[in-house]
Amino acid sequence: MALGGPGPDDAILARGLVKTYGRERALDGFDLRVPRGVVWGLLGPNGAGKTTAVRTLATLLALQEGEARVAGVDVRADPQGVRRRIGLSGQTAAVDEILGGRQNLVLFGRLGRLGRRDAAARADELLERFGLVEAAGKPVKKYSGGMRRRLDLAVTLLFRPEVLFLDEPTTGLDPRNRGEVWAAIRQLVADGTTVLLTTQYLDEADQLAAGISVMDHGRVIAEGRPDELKRRVGGDRLEVTVVDPADLDRARAAIARWADEAPQVDVDLKQVSAPVSDRVGAVSAVLAELGDSGIRIDDLALRRPTLDDVFLTLTGHSADTAAAESDPTDAREVVA
Ligand code: ATP
Repeated sequence: MALGGPGPDDAILARGLVKTYGRERALDGFDLRVPRGVVWGLLGPNGAGKTTAVRTLATLLALQEGEARVAGVDVRADPQGVRRRIGLSGQTAAVDEILGGRQNLVLFGRLGRLGRRDAAARADELLERFGLVEAAGKPVKKYSGGMRRRLDLAVTLLFRPEVLFLDEPTTGLDPRNRGEVWAAIRQLVADGTTVLLTTQYLDEADQLAAGISVMDHGRVIAEGRPDELKRRVGGDRLEVTVVDPADLDRARAAIARWADEAPQVDVDLKQVSAPVSDRVGAVSAVLAELGDSGIRIDDLALRRPTLDDVFLTLTGHSADTAAAESDPTDAREVVA
């Protein structure tokens, strides 16, 4: 792909990772290459193996088969060396509720290897960076969800990790707080950190990730830039909503003549949809044909493929909550 072949500069390089739980193969020939200085999205349906992959790369799980290097260090030969160079941040912040944000940062800094003065200086720098200066003295239990996640990120960054594993960093946050966390992640990458991001929100990967690896059944089944993956699903989708459900069959037959694949019919939505490569040609031809056949339509739209379409096509599963979370008006281009 456009980011070039594997090289010594890769932040993460994994080849043929296998992890079994009894007869269950949580990782089954997992390969991953993440260049330095980018956000890389690791996506997959529930149970695909994302957490197992991240925990293995972060040395929390032993490497059974295969090889991996993280931040240039061999995971099997030198797990301690890997640990010194990485950060790992989950959905729930491990910070103390009663202490303020600054006290937490100083405490974690001191628990690590920072001296008193260094811990204080680093705490102030991170509070500034994550927009937490005003809330620095407030007990964490009074923080909003977004503030807590930002503090959690700040704690993870105390020791300047080269590679940061972020496991669903915005799950459960409202859109404004998600936006704040996204801004913080962008800032990290601007500072040179590499981020491996697992997320259920495909729009999050779309917004942040330079590249995406889609996992299913313990291995990567597709990867590329978000726009490349979307292109792979095919062209735009033509969606026609009819007034009378009795017309659905005839509408499907009319659309089939202009579609790249057999149209899908959604009886509840009274909608027929199909991928079309010739956008304008398909719209005018379908409109004319439906008009000639006396089929009344309620709506006709061209929708660009979303990562959810990519997901569905590749894995046969929808990305759960992602479809509900993303705003469909963003992707819809109403033409009639
Ligand atoms: P989710 O999105 O639900 O977190 P995931 O992609 O992170 O899923 P994993 O948690 O890595 O998937 O799980 C991959 C597979 O391994 C699943 O089938 C899961 O049931 C199994 N698995 C994970 N951890 C264990 C464990 N400790 N013991 C037994 N099976 C496990």
